[in-house]
Amino acid sequence: MACSDCITHQIASSELVNRLLSKPGDFPIAGSLELTLRCNARCRHCYIMFPGATTGEMSTDQVKAILDKLAEQGVLFLLVTGGEIFARCDFKELYLYAKRLGFLLTLFTNGTLIDEEMADFLAEWPPRRIEITIYGHTEETYEKVTCLPGSFKRFRRGVELLLERKLPLALKTMAMKSNIHEFEQIQAWAEGLGVPFRFDSMVNPQLDGGTAVLKERITPEQYLSLEGTSEGTRRHYQKLLDMAQSRPRSPKAFTCGAGIKTFHVDPRGKLHPCMMWRATPYDLKTGTIKGWIEHLEALREQTTIPEDSPCRTCVHHIACNNCAATSALENNGVAGKPVDYYCKINYTREKLLNLHRFEVNSPSTTEAKQTTVAPALETAR
Ligand code: SF4
Ligand code: SF4
Repeated sequence: MACSDCITHQIASSELVNRLLSKPGDFPIAGSLELTLRCNARCRHCYIMFPGATTGEMSTDQVKAILDKLAEQGVLFLLVTGGEIFARCDFKELYLYAKRLGFLLTLFTNGTLIDEEMADFLAEWPPRRIEITIYGHTEETYEKVTCLPGSFKRFRRGVELLLERKLPLALKTMAMKSNIHEFEQIQAWAEGLGVPFRFDSMVNPQLDGGTAVLKERITPEQYLSLEGTSEGTRRHYQKLLDMAQSRPRSPKAFTCGAGIKTFHVDPRGKLHPCMMWRATPYDLKTGTIKGWIEHLEALREQTTIPEDSPCRTCVHHIACNNCAATSALENNGVAGKPVDYYCKINYTREKLLNLHRFEVNSPSTTEAKQTTVAPALETAR
């Protein structure tokens, strides 16, 4: 569950929601709660399957106390994720508790533990959205990814049960080496069911820094082929390139809404600015929201991009997905350093879409001409 799983992707980008989204100093109205890191599957790309990940899970009462704190702060949109959420035997109790507190709930699941009883329960108490990940179009590919015999049929049955009950289902896939050959079939199947479909194509390292999962990353060329080369895509990236050239980059590593527009609570009750940044946990079981805001301000202020990092002056910094969290995960905890994979994607895209530098007339154009090229990019040029 990577960045594209961030709660901001799950909420409508209407004017109302944009207005509701928090400003610095507030607590966000949208965030995610990871109920457990336990899961019945063992996916090849999973970023939370590492030794010791499942220890220290909160009790039912502790989760309820966290939900109370979030409700008191006016949190409205809550993404409930895992691990596998239905692996918690108190799921129904916690879900109903959260519903009664008035949260608008989105559920992320692999769908394999949804039986008639769970589907009936959800039909009685529908979430705002329930999202299931598709790991393959055939049994062979799906179970090659999940390493769980029998999971393909159970996932398909889970989807069927939710559709029969007209629940607000959405489907997504994680494109990786083991299933990329079935991407088009996955997409056609999901769209044929008439439900919203999206995909993620970025496999991230494990949260303990483990990189074994990166062998599932598709190539930069495959990544860009999924992104497409339409005129709309070209215009989008040209705009980002123009903006990046005309605005000097802030030396702060956090330029996103982590902790300001979103938050993430893990199964131990630790609060983080986002799902992928776990380096500076704040204990929400014993702490206060005021304490968290101070903690966050210090984190955002003090985490800077190293002076010698090419990311500081890179022309692709706005388009690049290498955020503070992902760069730290791939650079022994140092935020703001480049990652070869992202560099290759950005520079290959520039060539592929025939993007032009300095299309805008900006006072900072001269400065922007001094942009540095990451050494890692030489291979991509
Ligand atoms: S279903 Fe999700 S949480 Fe479970 S192993 Fe797969 S990726 Fe990880
Ligand atoms: S393309 Fe490379 S150097 Fe540029 S911002 Fe992304 S990771 Fe940093």
